Order: sequence, then structure tokens, then C-alpha cells
Amino acid sequence: MTDSLQSVGIPAGIATGNDYLTLLRACHEGCYALPAINVTSSSTANAVLEAAAHNKSDIIIQLSYSGARFYGGRGLKNDHKAAVYGALSLAQHIHMVAKEYGIAVILHTDHANRPLIPWLNDLIDFSATQYANTGRPLFSSHMLDLSTEPLEDNIKECAIILKRLTPLGVGLEIELGLTGGEEDGIGQEYNENTTDNAHLYTQPEDVLKAWQELSPLGTVSIAASFGNVHGVYKTKINLNPEILKASQELVQHFSHTGPKPLHLVFHGGSGSELEKIEQAISYGVFKMNIDTDTQFAYAQGVGHYIKDNQEAFEYQVSPVTGQPLKKLYDPRRWVRAGELSLIERLHQSFITLGSRGKTIAFR
Ligand SMILES: [Zn+2]
Repeated sequence: MTDSLQSVGIPAGIATGNDYLTLLRACHEGCYALPAINVTSSSTANAVLEAAAHNKSDIIIQLSYSGARFYGGRGLKNDHKAAVYGALSLAQHIHMVAKEYGIAVILHTDHANRPLIPWLNDLIDFSATQYANTGRPLFSSHMLDLSTEPLEDNIKECAIILKRLTPLGVGLEIELGLTGGEEDGIGQEYNENTTDNAHLYTQPEDVLKAWQELSPLGTVSIAASFGNVHGVYKTKINLNPEILKASQELVQHFSHTGPKPLHLVFHGGSGSELEKIEQAISYGVFKMNIDTDTQFAYAQGVGHYIKDNQEAFEYQVSPVTGQPLKKLYDPRRWVRAGELSLIERLHQSFITLGSRGKTIAFR
């Protein structure tokens, strides 16, 4: 069936509205997921696009609030404005270059809790203006993570945001249950000894309630926790993807849908066992977040480069040979070393998630 979606296809570049939905359907029918990579710079964004193009896979690029704040520039004093400008400028960069890579890109913002709703609203305002001018929003989807609040409050606020997004062709990701650990300042530090594990598993009944209230309002995806933890630790707690299966079956039963009605998201994917990942995808996960592993890969690439060219990071001219070292300390050299290492790490992800060779984009 994916063949049919592959032959219909969607244009290369940022997928929004119906194209975004077509891409979700292709993942669903083809039983694969897309890597969702957090970026904080044009360098990391370009590397992710390059890796996706190389693997002929579509891709999800996402920005956290603090990643956007960093992109906006540390020198800007106002955190809110810097995070708005950072998100808008990185998004526009990706809009400019993405279609040249010949793949489809879902452009997404990661965890936003209640204090960050004004940030989301400013980004949505910008999408609304762009939509009025061009018929297209800036982002494909946003996440609102009110998982620490009572379910009713979580759903109520998500409904308000979703009603703003739907006319613009933008989707909403919500979180039910709690992904352990913190992601870029959102969430709580995960402690292997003291964190209460019960919160790390979503109740399928909560998924049903959220789906019944939100799915009539627009395109919703759900980060349901099944023991996921952000970050990589010495010991991992037990992943239980059966929760995803139970949630799908409960919704199918009570809402009389076809099989696997939910678009599910896997947070805290770094360092997970292959078998659990494959299981989660077979239960309808279309998006797996990867941040910790790609951060490490980028750092390793830069680290090795510096180690191999140490002289160039201490002297402009070699005290040994008398040769200028400009070519070696040029940021394009060591930044590129980070990019190549990140790309190398991502090759694995496309294979693991089954998205390699499955792009549905046409140029
Ligand atoms: Zn997360």
C-alpha cells in the first residue's frame, strides 16, 4: 500500500496540511517510523537533511524552546523573543534549503509546557500570517506537553491550541503519562534510584479519553509513555511497548475505527533496545525522537578532529614547521567533522526505523 502512496507522493520540502497527513499514512501503512532529530544550529539541521537525503528517507526536524533560544543568539537579552526569533529563523532556513534535498521534512517544535504556551502562540501567529499570504504554515506540527497536569486540564488546553492549528494545516503532538528525565530543561531530572516508575507508564484509558475529545478537532499525535526516559543512563528501566498496543486496541474498540487509529510518538529513544523499537513501530509509532545520541555523535566528531589537530587549536603558525595552520582551525573543518559524525550515526537510525529508501517525496 505504501507503494501507492510512494507513487502518488508529496512535494519535496516541508510537509504540512494534507501532505503531512499523507506522510503519516505512508509510515502507518509501510510500518516504519521517521527519526525526529533535535537541532540547535544550521550546521546540525543541514547534517540531518544530508543524512536523510543520503538514505532516501523522509525526516522530522525539531526544535526545543531552549534550542530555538540558542539559535536566536545568546547575545539577545529577552529569552522569549530570542526563542521566537530563533525558531522562526531556523524554520525559514529549512524552508529555503529542504526541497533541494529531494525528501519530505516534518518541521516540528518539541516539548512545550504551560509557561511556554506564549512561545507556541507567537509561532502560530507567524504561521497564520504566512498562511494568509502563501497558503502554507511555517511548521508541520507543534508539541504541547502538559503531562504533569491533571488529564482534564491537559486535554482542555490541547483542544484550545488544536483549534488554532487545524485551519492552518498544522498538527499537534500531546503527551500522556510522563517521559522520564528532562529534555532541554523541560521535565524532571531522572534519578535511577528514586524516580517513581509508575508515572512512566501511560494508562490506555487516558489515551482513549484524549483521542475521543481531540481527534475530531484536528490531527493529533500522542506521545504515550511506556517506560521511556530522556537521556542515556547506566541502567534503563523496563520498556513496555504493549501499552501502545493496548491503547490502539482500546480506541479501535470504543471508537469503531480501523486498526491502529493512533499516531504514536516514541520519546527518549536514545540507547533503546532494537527489539523494543521494532515492537513499538509495529504498534503504530511513526516518530522516534533522538537527541542524546546525535548530540554525542556530533561532539565525538569535533572532539576527534581537535585531538588529531591539536597544534592548530593552540597556534596560528606551527612552532615546529613554521607553516600557517589556518586551513586546520577554519571552523568549516571542525564543524564539518561534527556533521559527518552525526550523519554516520543517523545512517543506523534510518535502518533501525525502517525508513531507508522509503521517501514519498518527488522533486
Ligand atoms: Zn521528549
